[in-house]
Amino acid sequence: MTAFALRCSLCSLVVFLTLRFGSAEEKPQQPTRTPTANTVNTPSPGAAAKRSPPAPRLDWKAGLAAAKITPDTLMWMAGYGARKKPAEGTLQDLYAKAMALEDEGGHRAVIVTLDLIGVLTSVRESVEKQVEEQHKLPPAALLLNASHTHCGPEYRERKGREEEARNYEQFLQSTLVKLVGEALADLQPASLTYGHARAGFAMNRRRNYALPKDDINANKAPNPDGPVDHDVPVLCVSDDAGTQRAVLFGYACHNTTLQFFQFCGDYAGFAQEYLETDHPGTTAMFVMGCGADQNPYPRSTVELAQKHGRSLATGVEAALFANPRPLHGSIRCALEYVDLPWADAMKEQRHYPVQVMCIGGDVTLVTLASEVVVDYSLRLKRELRRPPAIVWVAGYSNGYFGYIPSERVLAEGGYEAPSYAPGIEDKIIGKAVELYQQLEKPATQTP
Ligand SMILES: [Zn+2]
Repeated sequence: MTAFALRCSLCSLVVFLTLRFGSAEEKPQQPTRTPTANTVNTPSPGAAAKRSPPAPRLDWKAGLAAAKITPDTLMWMAGYGARKKPAEGTLQDLYAKAMALEDEGGHRAVIVTLDLIGVLTSVRESVEKQVEEQHKLPPAALLLNASHTHCGPEYRERKGREEEARNYEQFLQSTLVKLVGEALADLQPASLTYGHARAGFAMNRRRNYALPKDDINANKAPNPDGPVDHDVPVLCVSDDAGTQRAVLFGYACHNTTLQFFQFCGDYAGFAQEYLETDHPGTTAMFVMGCGADQNPYPRSTVELAQKHGRSLATGVEAALFANPRPLHGSIRCALEYVDLPWADAMKEQRHYPVQVMCIGGDVTLVTLASEVVVDYSLRLKRELRRPPAIVWVAGYSNGYFGYIPSERVLAEGGYEAPSYAPGIEDKIIGKAVELYQQLEKPATQTP
C-alpha cells in the first residue's frame, strides 16, 4: 500500500481510514440500496428543502447596462510615468458597466464600474450633474468606481497631449450619462443576495518598516507580512426566474500585473471576462478596494494577469456558493466632502468625497476617493461591522488625485505617503462613521 509512505497528518488519516475500512479496489462495493416508493415519496425535510428552495422574494428592481470604452485611437496609457510611447493595440476591451437598484420604496442607486485608471473629479462632477438633471438621481446615490488598470488610456491632460485627453473625457462623460440612463430604463424585478470569500494574490507592496536597519530585507519590498485585505465581497442579482443577471464583486489590489503597451483590464478585466463567459447572460462588475499599497504577485506577464483573474473569479464563485444570504430592506445613501489637511497649510484645500451606501439591512458599502491604503478598509470593517452583515470598502471612487495615506503610512513615509498632516485618517474615517450612523436612523434616510 503506497499510502504508508505518506507522512502528513491528513495522509495519516487516509492511511487509518484505508486500514480500517479497506479501499474501493480491495473490497467489493456493497450493493446499492434500491429506493422504495416510501423513500421517494416522503423525503426528509432536509432533502425536500434542497430539492425545492423557497422562491426568492422579488423585493428589488435591478437594471444593467454596459458600454465599451476602449479608445478608438492609440492613446498614451495611464499609470506608469516612465512610458515613452503610446499604446500599440488592444489585448482586451475596456468597459464601463452600470447596475441600477431600486428598493420597494422606490429609492434608487446606480453603481458604475470602469476599467480605467481613475475617476477624474471633472468626470464625476459632470456626470453627477447630468444624471441628476435627466434622471432625478441624487448625487449620493451615484457611485463611480475605477479598477485602476495601468493598461487603460491616460485621460488627464499631459503636456502635448491635451487634445486627446479632452476628447476621451468628453466621450467618457457622454457614455456614462447614457449608460446610467440605460441601466435605470432596464429596472425589472429582482432578488439580491450577498456573500464573501477570499483571494490571496494581493501582497503589501511596501517594505517592512518594522525590520531593524541591518536586516537582510530591511529595504526590500514587497512585504509578505504587511497588512492586506483579501476579502472578495459579492452582490448577486437574479431575475424573477432565479437566473443570475449580475455579480458585483470587489478586491483590494492594484491592477498592475501588466506593464506593456496593449489596452487591457489586467486581472480585474480577466476576472470579469471569465465570470461572464462561465455564466452566460451575467454582467460581471469589478469594484476596486483600498489597494493603494497592494500589488498582485507575481507579476509582469499576461499569463499571470490571467491567473490572478482566475483566482479572483474563483473567489467570486466561492462567495456565490458559500451560503449566500438574501438581501432585504431599503437603499440609503449619503455623500459628503471633507477637506484633507496638508502638512503645508498654505496648499490648496482638497475636497475629498466620502460616500456610504446601505443596500438592504446587511450590506454597507463605504466608498473613498483616490488611492487609499488598506488600513482604511481594515479599520472601517472593524468599526462598522455587525456580522453577518458585511462592510464593503471601495477606494478609487468619485475622485482621483494621488495617494491617501493612513496615519501609519504617513509616519513611515515612502511612495504612498504624500505630505498630508497627521489627522487625515481620523478625518476620513470619522466622516464615514458619521454618515453610516445617519443612515441607520430612518428619519435621516436620503431618498
Ligand atoms: Zn496606483
